[in-house]
Amino acid sequence: MAFSIDRIRNDFPILHQKVYNKPLVYLDNGATTHKPAVVIETIKELQESHNSSIHRGIHFLSEQMTSRYEAARETVRAFLNASSTSEVIFTSGATGSINAVAFSFGERYVKAGDEILISEMEHHSNIVPWQMLCQRKGAKLKIIPFDHNGELLLDQLDALLTEQTKLVALTHASNSLGTINPVKEVIRRAHARNIPVMLDGAQMVQHGKVDVKELDCDFYVFSSHKIFGPTGSGVLYGKESLLEEMPPYQGGGDMVDQVTFEDTSYNTLPFKFEAGTANYIGAIGLATAIDYLKQVGISEIGLYEKELIDYTKQKLGDIEGLIIYGNAKKRISVFSFLLDNIHTYDAGMILDKMGIAVRTGTHCTQPVMDHFGISGTIRASLVFYNTREEVDRLAEGIEQTIKMLS
Ligand code: PLP
Repeated sequence: MAFSIDRIRNDFPILHQKVYNKPLVYLDNGATTHKPAVVIETIKELQESHNSSIHRGIHFLSEQMTSRYEAARETVRAFLNASSTSEVIFTSGATGSINAVAFSFGERYVKAGDEILISEMEHHSNIVPWQMLCQRKGAKLKIIPFDHNGELLLDQLDALLTEQTKLVALTHASNSLGTINPVKEVIRRAHARNIPVMLDGAQMVQHGKVDVKELDCDFYVFSSHKIFGPTGSGVLYGKESLLEEMPPYQGGGDMVDQVTFEDTSYNTLPFKFEAGTANYIGAIGLATAIDYLKQVGISEIGLYEKELIDYTKQKLGDIEGLIIYGNAKKRISVFSFLLDNIHTYDAGMILDKMGIAVRTGTHCTQPVMDHFGISGTIRASLVFYNTREEVDRLAEGIEQTIKMLS
């Protein structure tokens, strides 16, 4: 089906409302994306007619829900091109997935004196769990820096990978700089030293094809709500050989085989990592969002967004006094910027009154702000349902803001 922006916008009910009597321009997709009607309808239908706890029931509704949950796992497997559904674990989101790896991989493989390597542009979700692990184990957190354009300083990578490095945890795309990192090169160099790599795909999966086999990453994580699915759901992909060796990070129902007061044996993959009643409606909602994306066309989305990126770059670049932070050659449609002498919150509030939703602050990447010596930025983050007209509204809004506040 040809990419039709009008048809796509019609699929997203929330986009057609007015805010302060102005048509909504939603440019906060880096924080969360909206849901197409098919996802909203599926969740409603599941709640109304099918709700039942999975795996442990023998009755009709439970069996039905179980097979839809496992079908959702297969949808995610195919989406990521994982080898097997054993490698697809449903979690509460990217943060939940990273914490799972940090705890479970950390318990199995990290000891005092070891090192975990992350980058300077990580979201707090990909910093703090590693810091906690390092504190628990007496290990050390090391950092790959980035340059003034927001590109990783790869020439420092080889020196940072040492005999002690146990894992590299890197964002695939930055939520505050927009940079798409050269993850294949990082993985190649880390693997040359037998070091596994975890990629944080929270800002990548909604923008282009991700193939975990082609990347050869060891873990890949993302959140459902940033890829047009419901909140409270997410994915941890892990290579089976690693997951098999790693202990569960949470105990509870469903993740066990036999339980006595003396000892417990664990379930097989992927269930070993899914303790408690699963968020089955969240997982099925995510699979519905993935099916929707496939129907729109993931490569068509990439092409459309590329044009939108070029247009936004040009429009923002034309505004005097606007400085963009993050000018990497390969980027997603996320733009961080500052306006001469204008506080980010003031600008954000004025844009809001014009119906334009942007985000202001550190975007959970305080070290990125520290790098530039700033307290925060204004961030406009776009996805495939945004339009050139909305970029024009943003540019006009910024011009007006500058006039009002300068
Ligand atoms: N990683 C990146 C790059 C993000 O942008 C975010 C959220 O903004 C996260 C991780 C955490 O995602 P969540 O809060 O959905 O777990």
